[in-house]
Amino acid sequence: MEPPVSGPRPRTCRACGKKFDYPVKGSAATRHHCAECVELPAETRRVLERLSARIAALEHSLRRLPKQP
Ligand SMILES: [Zn+2]
Repeated sequence: MEPPVSGPRPRTCRACGKKFDYPVKGSAATRHHCAECVELPAETRRVLERLSARIAALEHSLRRLPKQP
């Protein structure tokens, strides 16, 4: 698992993929969601997480494609 650290560290939002620091004083962001996505209804966030996972998978397979000449 993750080692205990003090102070904010960069995280990637599971829903929108945005990079954000966590924890930040005064920010509603959680470990997995940025401050904006935290405000979304749970069902909406679930859909975004699904799409975001698909995009990540696509990006992964794109990186594995052979380079075009
Ligand atoms: Zn987000």
